Amino acid sequence: MQLTDLVYLRCPICHTALRLHIGNGIHGSVRCASNTHTYDIRQGILDLLTAPRPSSLAAWSNEFALTAWAYERLWRPYALRIMSGTAFDYDREQAILAEAITAPRGLVVDIACSNGLYARFIANAYPSAAIIGIDRAMPMLIEAQRRAVAARLPISYIRADARALPMSSGVAAGIVIAGSLNEMEDLPRVFAEVARIAAPTSTLVNMALTQATTFFGKIIQAALAPGGITFFDPDTIIAQFVHTGWHIQASTITGIVWFVRATRTGA
Ligand SMILES: [Zn+2]
Repeated sequence: MQLTDLVYLRCPICHTALRLHIGNGIHGSVRCASNTHTYDIRQGILDLLTAPRPSSLAAWSNEFALTAWAYERLWRPYALRIMSGTAFDYDREQAILAEAITAPRGLVVDIACSNGLYARFIANAYPSAAIIGIDRAMPMLIEAQRRAVAARLPISYIRADARALPMSSGVAAGIVIAGSLNEMEDLPRVFAEVARIAAPTSTLVNMALTQATTFFGKIIQAALAPGGITFFDPDTIIAQFVHTGWHIQASTITGIVWFVRATRTGA
């Protein structure tokens, strides 16, 4: 956790400012300005999560260390290819992201960051940006932190819930959501929180998986559905973005991989 990033955060319970209480950004604790709530920093990760345990199977599977290990190594590279019937490698994803998030100043938030793939893309492209990745699953965050430390990228990883983001209102210059809407519950609350933390000139990039059209893709998606992974009709999501104040700048679908870029201003 980069302690300079505390300025963007607020207590998820009483919404007052957070400051370092004991220790440092590796091991220590932060406390809110009302002096009521204290949160630990362990292995460089700030744990702000006090919400109930995840209820869907996809969210539960993210709680396991093996899932965290396999996510970027297996699930991301292979599942996308099988379900979409087309190659979609990280270089291509990184290029799309770099084009969408141009020279951000201030804070970029990676929402439900998993192993921090997008957070690292942005940290590599824009070393002066402050980057916070949040996720509910500690094993995912530990793997994300390990990868960021190995790559010497100053990313702050925080355990928090996308339905109650720990950022102050209007602080995020950029927001990225990489595939995680497919695994989230209560999307209207997530969209409301994303809109709340967005700065007036903010850019949002969302990658999500749409309904498959190939034979094998449909079979795999049917098998994943009971586990809490939803595959979208993009128009439904676009309507929710527009409803919460975003202007859609671009929307492209490759296979089942859907990217949408939106801004607050429409400019
Ligand atoms: Zn508090």
